[in-house]
Amino acid sequence: MPPLEEGVIEQILADERLPAGLVLDPFGASPRLVLEAAQSGRTVLVAANNPVTRFVLQHTLQPFKLGELQAALSHLAAIPKDDTRMERFILDLYRSTCTRCGEAISVEFFVWDPELGGPTHKVYSCDHCAHTGESPTTEDDWDRALDFSRRGLQHALALEQVAPAGDPDRQHAEVALSVYPGRAIYALITITNKIDQLALDESLLRALHALLLSAFDGANALWSYPEGRERPRQLRASQRYREQNIWRALEQAVETWAMEQPDLQVTDWPIDSPMQAGTIAIYPGTVRDLMETVDPAQISLLLTVPPRHNQAFWTLSALWAAWLWGRETAAPIKVALRRRRYDWSWHAAALRTVLTGLAASIKSDTPVISYLPEAEPGFIAAVLSGFNAAGFALQGRALRAGEEQAIFHWNVDSAAQIACGKKKREERMRSSGRHILTSRAEPSAYPLLHAAAWSDLVAEELLESIREAEGRQFMQVMGESLEAVLGNRKTFLHMGRGAEVESGLYWLHDPPFAEASLTDLVERRVLESLRKEGWIYAYELDKHICEQLPGLLTPDRRLITVCLRSYAEGPDADSRWRLRAEDYAAARQEDCAEIRRLLVNLGSQLEFEVGEGEMIKWLGDDGEVAYAFQIMETAIWAGVLQSDAVDGITYVIPGGRAELVAEKARRDPRLQDWLQGGPPVIKFRLVRRLIAETTLTRENLRERLAIDPPEHQDPQLPLL
Ligand SMILES: [Zn+2]
Repeated sequence: MPPLEEGVIEQILADERLPAGLVLDPFGASPRLVLEAAQSGRTVLVAANNPVTRFVLQHTLQPFKLGELQAALSHLAAIPKDDTRMERFILDLYRSTCTRCGEAISVEFFVWDPELGGPTHKVYSCDHCAHTGESPTTEDDWDRALDFSRRGLQHALALEQVAPAGDPDRQHAEVALSVYPGRAIYALITITNKIDQLALDESLLRALHALLLSAFDGANALWSYPEGRERPRQLRASQRYREQNIWRALEQAVETWAMEQPDLQVTDWPIDSPMQAGTIAIYPGTVRDLMETVDPAQISLLLTVPPRHNQAFWTLSALWAAWLWGRETAAPIKVALRRRRYDWSWHAAALRTVLTGLAASIKSDTPVISYLPEAEPGFIAAVLSGFNAAGFALQGRALRAGEEQAIFHWNVDSAAQIACGKKKREERMRSSGRHILTSRAEPSAYPLLHAAAWSDLVAEELLESIREAEGRQFMQVMGESLEAVLGNRKTFLHMGRGAEVESGLYWLHDPPFAEASLTDLVERRVLESLRKEGWIYAYELDKHICEQLPGLLTPDRRLITVCLRSYAEGPDADSRWRLRAEDYAAARQEDCAEIRRLLVNLGSQLEFEVGEGEMIKWLGDDGEVAYAFQIMETAIWAGVLQSDAVDGITYVIPGGRAELVAEKARRDPRLQDWLQGGPPVIKFRLVRRLIAETTLTRENLRERLAIDPPEHQDPQLPLL
């Protein structure tokens, strides 16, 4: 399922500018979206064509009770199988011996190395000697595992249930099946073929299906070991994968499905009576078919998390649906078996196909909002192009590049498309890039420039003509144009790692002067917000800053957090962040005045002539400036960096800014170079220490200024 963060949909719907009334989700890819929309009091109509997603959706909205899941599992456990019970039978498939005490165990999971062709490790906990963890496998373990690699009856049945002999998709089904270890197929099909014997009532049967779905998902070889961060998207075995004990997978699934009861009304669509507010209606088909059954005037808002292509999930959905509910239920998604390769051009076309007709049928003032988790450039391009081609006009955009989150606001398109040849396209991309870098006033990464270029072309109705002119090459042509534009050294500088267009940062060859960069603005806003009340909730702050710096200026959460930590302490028991005592305006002013005094005194002690202006200047015997100090309470440097006077000035900052300075340097190579070039920045505490140091002389001063750079947490002053 798309990793949709909690509260996002609720936040979107809290916007008072959105009309009340029925929300339509044309893709039904995210159960969380539907859940939160309904919890916000909306009536929701959702098209869910994939039977697996639909099942998850239904049971997220109306979860099983823990007792139902446990009962379903114990019914299954008790089915007789080969002189024993099903539970024992399945556990025995994974029997092995404890490495430490030699007693019989049932392994939690084996770790396979597909290149070696077998399980190299086993993970278990031993009931006899309490040994737990990972142990190397034995020859017996290998032999048992390989016993199942021969294709037996269960494998034939697994295949038959998806694509019987003569079915044109049979070979594709076979490929899909090959991502399962032989033993998993054996266990799973043994179980599914016994379910009918149980004669369970409908709710227990569905509970059992839920447990099996989790086992289907957990038992394939796509999940890597140790677990990676990414969910698998390609249908291929991982470098090292777990072979899950199917019975353990079923047991663990009980927890997964026993979700909190949201207490919602859910119904199948279509219904005869009018829908009550807060009800969710699920249509088991595509939005195209759905629209034949609905009065478009009823729809007040389109809200969706567009799916991203996921070969693994789509293909396996076809298998799982066939195994659990039969070929007929699986039929609408069976085509996924056939398709091996997905790219973003295909995806853009697929989104367009699903959405075409929708724009023409809904009311022209219906807002359309698409929210994208995992918003990498290709996905953004596909969504922008797909929605636009389906007849929607872009009204608003925001990208939080660090978190890969994007949101697009559309309405029904009435404008005519405008022709856009190569020259115009590249000219437009260049000005988009210039504009976004100028507004951010700092080097920025490729995804931002990409999003700016694409969304500007869409907003100005230029993209559609490019798509029509270039056909299937369209995405590639756009990519080449953007690469050519960004590669033009007269306009853009490419900073940092690698020559790849997607890597490093981009900046302007000839940037206009900016007093503060985006990063600086965030810092300033954080400080202002904190000084208002003296405390703030991190969440309120995030919201406030996103409102002030919208669209492609939306700052990363990490940056906001580092700014917050620089000026505040928290969170306390009430989740509040409190302004540091020393960062209240008055306290900080006093602090700065003290440092100023100390610098004046220190200059005099070292027998410089001291000039006191905005800067404190120490003049040497020749009357020239030997040292110049600028006291700063913030780390707002963009203006400073661009001024000619920057060289030779030492900036004196509070120690609390140190982490923020490091974060800013990490994000901005200009700042990094500057900091590496000498000791341009020192902390207040260094001034306090130097004044107390009796061995300080003009000769060792420069060296002393460098001993406590901002990034140092705990400096050791030399003893002598
Ligand atoms: Zn043991």
